[in-house]
Amino acid sequence: MLRTVILAAARSSRCEQFVATAPYTRDIVRRFVAGARTDDALRVTRALVQDGLAVTLDNLGEDTVTPEQATAVRDEYLNLLELLAAAGLTPATEVSVKLSALGQTFDEQLAYDHARAICVAADTAGTMVTLDMEDHTTTDSTLDILLKLREDHPSTGAVLQAYLRRTESDCRQLAGAGSRVRLCKGAYREPESVAYQSAHDVDRSYVRCLNILMSGAGYPMLATHDPRLIAIGEDRARWFDRGPDRFEFQMLYGIRPEEQARLVGDGYTVRTYVPYGDQWYGYLMRRLAERPANLAFFARALMHQG
Ligand SMILES: Cc1cc2nc3c(=O)[nH]c(=O)nc-3n(C[C@H](O)[C@H](O)[C@H](O)COP(=O)(O)OP(=O)(O)OC[C@H]3O[C@@H](n4cnc5c(N)ncnc54)[C@H](O)[C@@H]3O)c2cc1C
Repeated sequence: MLRTVILAAARSSRCEQFVATAPYTRDIVRRFVAGARTDDALRVTRALVQDGLAVTLDNLGEDTVTPEQATAVRDEYLNLLELLAAAGLTPATEVSVKLSALGQTFDEQLAYDHARAICVAADTAGTMVTLDMEDHTTTDSTLDILLKLREDHPSTGAVLQAYLRRTESDCRQLAGAGSRVRLCKGAYREPESVAYQSAHDVDRSYVRCLNILMSGAGYPMLATHDPRLIAIGEDRARWFDRGPDRFEFQMLYGIRPEEQARLVGDGYTVRTYVPYGDQWYGYLMRRLAERPANLAFFARALMHQG
């Protein structure tokens, strides 16, 4: 129920205006988002890489509605990749890209062309691209574009969401040699017809998918903060003899940083997903919807300004 309300607020421009202008909420935004500018992304990345973490950078922006916006997002990634290479932050840093930000909702070919340009720039910079996964109406289109991109850029990473009923089968399709697959639970509100609804069913699906990926020939990227799933990931890594160059854990910036450090200390590869940019609202609301404790923190900050 609470999750539904927050995800509805994520689509409300009035609510966005309120959150964006409230002084105390800015600190909360900063906890989860590197900052609005490319410089902020580089600064945060440098610090994380120094701490032994790998990074994936996401320029926040979704639901792009004009070709001009899509081109601006592409150009930001091209600029970012050049700066990362110049700063010596590749290959430890890759980029995560949302096809909707590149125009997928109104022109799939445009989104593909822009994603391809970003893959070429990532090759030049000595790093890789992962395509984020969005709501289930985009899954087929995103996987089609992924397969086309992989023809010339085989390292392009996929994201699969354990809450979708189809994902076990997608994992089997994508568990082949060299295939980078990020497995997450899934962050959107999805209907029962396509997605498991209870946390327990989603967790069980996550484990089935994790087993397929960890026993396969690809490169699994286990994206979760869930202690039980992380422990299962560690167990399967031992079982399938996967060292730090054959799979990785991934977590979001600002969430369980001490656990990220613990895993690095234990010799695992851990990649922090770092969002930056001024369109942070939808991202922040999805994070709040995931965890009541984050919401309480947020509500306290709002009360302070009254
Ligand atoms: C690197 C990365 C990339 C992602 N990319 C995508 C994507 O492309 N598409 C998509 O739909 N979703 C994506 N997600 C989001 C994902 O789908 C989940 O919505 C999100 O990760 C929360 O799920 P969880 O696995 O952490 O489990 P949850 O069920 O949210 O949390 C499980 C447990 O983790 C611990 N935990 C969680 N949050 C915290 C916290 N703030 N502090 C302390 N403990 C905490 C708690 O013990 C909690 O009970 C991504 C997530 C990550 C980490």
